[in-house]
Amino acid sequence: MDSLNFNFKCTVCGSIVSRPLPTCPYCSGLVTVEYKEYAYRIDRSKPGIWRYSSLLPRFNEMISRGEGLTPVSKVEGVLVKNERKNPTGSYADRASAVIASYIRDANLEYVTTSYVDDFTYSLTFYLKDTVKIEILIEDLHQASFDDLLKFIGNEGVELALRRGMSVRDDTIEYVNPLTIEGLKTIIFEIYERGLNVENIVVPMETGVLAYSLAKGIEDLRRSGLDVNYNVVAAMIGDSRGQVVVSRPEIRIFHVEGYEVLKVLSKLAKRGFITKPISAASYAVAENLGSSIAVITMGFKPYKVTLRERRLKDVIFKVLSERGPLTAYGVWRENPRYTLRGYYKALKSMELRGDVCSEVVLKGARRVKLYKLC
Ligand SMILES: [Zn+2]
Repeated sequence: MDSLNFNFKCTVCGSIVSRPLPTCPYCSGLVTVEYKEYAYRIDRSKPGIWRYSSLLPRFNEMISRGEGLTPVSKVEGVLVKNERKNPTGSYADRASAVIASYIRDANLEYVTTSYVDDFTYSLTFYLKDTVKIEILIEDLHQASFDDLLKFIGNEGVELALRRGMSVRDDTIEYVNPLTIEGLKTIIFEIYERGLNVENIVVPMETGVLAYSLAKGIEDLRRSGLDVNYNVVAAMIGDSRGQVVVSRPEIRIFHVEGYEVLKVLSKLAKRGFITKPISAASYAVAENLGSSIAVITMGFKPYKVTLRERRLKDVIFKVLSERGPLTAYGVWRENPRYTLRGYYKALKSMELRGDVCSEVVLKGARRVKLYKLC
């Protein structure tokens, strides 16, 4: 075990524990990962979140299914990092990548986990065909119907009703030090992009996401970097009851239900679909200004005309062969469609994360280049 670059350490009494336990066996404090050395390096040869492996736990294998590097775009004037673009559609995939790597490293053939919306499905996706999972469900009413259908169709998954609390050697719960390590990579991506914002606004349910981002900032500072983001957590009404972890530097904002509904309908009218808790983060980011909201957002299915679909195909082809290009540059390659048509299509494709862009200086002018992501 000498090659370990970290310890699982209790944040309260400082005890070191051997497994990713949700809480310390001696004092019930939160357990997190402490590194032996802090250095922020980007390794672009590594897949997914593992580009930040210098500040992630070191395992024999780095399991990735393409999580991370989610797109940042402006939605009605608010900067948004859309975590929906992860493989199973949520930021939980970042946690699953780290947990699955740990499980492989520890040679576990079987794990038990309590059902948590988004997270459990993500974990089954990352462990598919390698490890059997027993999912404990406390209350069938809480389990999403879509998730249940996916579990029932998966041979490696066993469903059971939860009876009392018991932590066994093979138990991996959502709240654990590895989840925090995976989720904190959101902050690394924001830092790597050099986004000039003061606040990073996240939805607060259990508080694990906000905690993880705050830890990510701490890890960057311990690596000697000057990082000055505030982590801001958005909550609907006063739902403090669900919060299991927090840190003093996290600012919490309560958004009233009617305000959430207003944002939901404003976004829906413009074609964006999101969960109430994401809408709350969006509302806080909008009010604070100088913020980025970390949310999951989808798009209303819309009818695409044959012409629009062809235009999109042309754009993909041109960008894959000649990109990065400006909208004008794309039009020059294939002037069969109008320049205005290209502008419109590229803007909508970027918003949906179908293409990416970068702004570069051309002489004294800033130009936007589009490319495949
Ligand atoms: Zn302790």
